[in-house]
Amino acid sequence: MNKPQAASMYESAKKIYPREIGGRFDTLSKLATITLLGLFYVVPWLNWDERQAVLFDLPARKFYLLGLTLWPQDFPYLALLLIIAALSLFFFTALAGRLWCGFACPQTVWTEAFIWMEQLTEGTRSQRMKLDEAAWSLTKFRKKASKQFLWITFSMWTGFTFVGYFTPVRELGADIFAFNIGGWTLFWGLFYGFATYGNAGYMREQVCKYMCPYARFQSAMFDKDTLIISYDEKRGEPRGGRKRSVDHKAAGLGDCIDCQLCVQVCPTGIDIREGLQYECIACAACIDACDSIMDRMNYPRGLVRYTTEHSLHNERTDLLRPRMFVYATLLVILVGGLVTSMAARTPVILDVIRDRNSLYRELPDNIVENIYTLKIINQSNDARDFSLSVSGVQDIVLDGIGDSVHVDGGGVLSVPVRVRAQRDNVQGINTIVFSIEALDDPSVAIEEDSRFIGPTY
Ligand code: SF4
Ligand code: SF4
Repeated sequence: MNKPQAASMYESAKKIYPREIGGRFDTLSKLATITLLGLFYVVPWLNWDERQAVLFDLPARKFYLLGLTLWPQDFPYLALLLIIAALSLFFFTALAGRLWCGFACPQTVWTEAFIWMEQLTEGTRSQRMKLDEAAWSLTKFRKKASKQFLWITFSMWTGFTFVGYFTPVRELGADIFAFNIGGWTLFWGLFYGFATYGNAGYMREQVCKYMCPYARFQSAMFDKDTLIISYDEKRGEPRGGRKRSVDHKAAGLGDCIDCQLCVQVCPTGIDIREGLQYECIACAACIDACDSIMDRMNYPRGLVRYTTEHSLHNERTDLLRPRMFVYATLLVILVGGLVTSMAARTPVILDVIRDRNSLYRELPDNIVENIYTLKIINQSNDARDFSLSVSGVQDIVLDGIGDSVHVDGGGVLSVPVRVRAQRDNVQGINTIVFSIEALDDPSVAIEEDSRFIGPTY
């Protein structure tokens, strides 16, 4: 009797060699890659008012975005911005499918750049396949080494740029040349560089297939009116090879000549003719590929095209459907709220900290005194003088400071102050109000409540 054989459930991933193809969508994809990568690498080098235009200064807990300085107190804006970004993703996915994945996702754009370097050093798809199969030789070593040199240099530059969003990039560059770089800075630079090298150089489509959570839940945002890339089965089948001169309709054939070009160009290695698959990142390379074949055969373009399930079944496609209205309304409300609150934002923060060591002090002439520390944060980029006052109790006065205080642009000033009032006016616990106002602009003013404690006897 034959013994049962143990079968392995593991299948190693097959390397995909996407074939290069030109066309409308390839041009769009290249434009998107150049624009997005260009922005990533250039933005840290831009200056605004003699400082880096975009800098997430974590040690100082300040985020600089062009003329805006965001402090930890501005976290609600950041949270709102993230909610708007997520909602925009839902809106555009419901409307146009995986546009983000195909043209704007960092994994896609960096993979594009890495594939371009691979083509530059190792050649076309068939040359790359032959090179991988060939035994090691001087030529193979030279080509592989050139590719690795480009990949590693680009990855290191990417890691450097990433850290440059968190540390002033010019100082970072000077520190690197002086071999004077901190441990954490080095770690994050190498980590991001290595992640880029691994994800865009080797993992590629596997990140989209197995690691990306968005690929898993995006189907929940799809409906029969969502724009998808699809093969027109009714028009294409039965598929089969034929000469260009053959009247394929008379021969009982559809428009698909089964050339496999759409499969060869696919960066995730799938066959679009098998229907909508979660591995499809909607890069539209198969549209360009199939259109080029249709042109060659003198058939109308669009056997593989952007369409909707309704349209494929000759039904009406509805762009204006309830979920689009819900997403759009929420987006308008949130963006409106963000813009309004940012426009109304006062660029100064006042924190009042009451001295906890003593409830109050009694002074001669029936005067009661409480001590506070006022923390003034000037969120604007320009230095400002502020006047300070206190109110809420009859004849209450502020002591211990001059007529005004000076706070540097983006600076924090702690001012110890004494507040005094007549004993008869401040029995028990009283609410008082501290106010500050910029001397150069009365609209830059803010108030903060606190407690004034007096005797109860
Ligand atoms: S099936 Fe077409 S659109 Fe989808 S990933 Fe492959 S080439 Fe891109
Ligand atoms: S590229 Fe077009 S014609 Fe060629 S196999 Fe794909 S669908 Fe068929």
